[in-house]
Amino acid sequence: MSKVYLTGAGPGDLELMTLKSVRVIKEADIIIYDKLANPEILKMAKESCVFKFVGKEFGKHLIPQDEINEIIYQAALKHENVVRLKGGDPFVFGRGGEEALYLKDRGIKFEIIPGITSSISVPAYAGIPVTNRGYTCSFRVVTGHEAPNKKDSQINWESFIADETIVFLMGIHNIKLISKKLIKIGKPSSTPCAVISRGTTKEQKVVVGTLEDIVEKAKDIPTPAIIVVGEVVKLREDLKWFEE
Ligand code: SAH
Repeated sequence: MSKVYLTGAGPGDLELMTLKSVRVIKEADIIIYDKLANPEILKMAKESCVFKFVGKEFGKHLIPQDEINEIIYQAALKHENVVRLKGGDPFVFGRGGEEALYLKDRGIKFEIIPGITSSISVPAYAGIPVTNRGYTCSFRVVTGHEAPNKKDSQINWESFIADETIVFLMGIHNIKLISKKLIKIGKPSSTPCAVISRGTTKEQKVVVGTLEDIVEKAKDIPTPAIIVVGEVVKLREDLKWFEE
């Protein structure tokens, strides 16, 4: 009986993979993967393993999600151990839920292998704790993919509470609109912000600013990158460790 492992590959640093993900990768007959922060991962597979890339290029899906679902299903009909590998965690903006539902509807067994999501690990490698006593007692992970000026936006911008840390994924191309919107809903323009690119890898870059000047400061930063907004960003000054 075949099985599909919906597996998180972690944020980039190879050692941030789980033991379980490494085991299923080593046993995989086929690996269906997205653009990964660390392609070294694929070298762990056995020699006979088949590789199928279904990732995004420049933020655009080369293959529509419906087709990806079908590719995974077909792989499960043909192979015993199917690994569907995604960056970070498969259920954090990874569309892992949709893929699991598609398999369930067709009677295919699956397992979810959580991964270390970039939304907390990338700030950590920049010396930014997403929560910290005396700073904030909550954080949110929000898609930045949706432009804040979109009419039927699913994001309830007014609901962001004052001292909450906000982590935007997929937000770099909308950073101007996002920072403007946050100021508009009442966040001080002096609120600290960080943009962290290629976090947890050798190419990690961090830019620190405020809602007012982050757009200018981060204009040349390479992707993938996340945006962190909140007072906790100030802690980086003392806690930065990775670049040193
Ligand atoms: N499932 C993934 C997120 C997928 S959305 C997870 O849990 O991490 C893709 C977005 O994640 C990118 O646009 C970027 O905002 C962020 N991202 C992923 N890896 C990153 C990295 N190493 N450094 C910075 N941002 C990263």
